[in-house]
Amino acid sequence: MWKYISGVPKVIEEKKKEKNPKAACDSKGSKEYEKNRSRKFSAKWQVGRPWLQHDQDKGMICKWCIENKATLMAHNVFNSARFIDGCTSYKAESIAYHEKSAAHLLAQQCHKAKIHPEKMPANLAR
Ligand SMILES: [Zn+2]
Repeated sequence: MWKYISGVPKVIEEKKKEKNPKAACDSKGSKEYEKNRSRKFSAKWQVGRPWLQHDQDKGMICKWCIENKATLMAHNVFNSARFIDGCTSYKAESIAYHEKSAAHLLAQQCHKAKIHPEKMPANLAR
């Protein structure tokens, strides 16, 4: 299965590090794991996530949530500025968590509605 990405040894290296994601939640022995883990933004996280951007100073930011911050606040779903002010916790889990947040889902709807206004969901203006 690795054959098709054999030309990208860096990706394989990162995959190996992520082989045991449970270790990150396990307090015992996680220190060693954290030490060896690269705390850098990985461009592969952006695959399929057009909203995810990396700011050299701020960290990871969400383009859609920034764009629609006012709407999120108006809808009372704005409960975390993590991906608006910048998230420096470079973990796939941080991204996954944000991706599922109510604020982000609404921002996603707003973003899509702007691209395709005719497809704007009616319940958005609730
Ligand atoms: Zn977002």
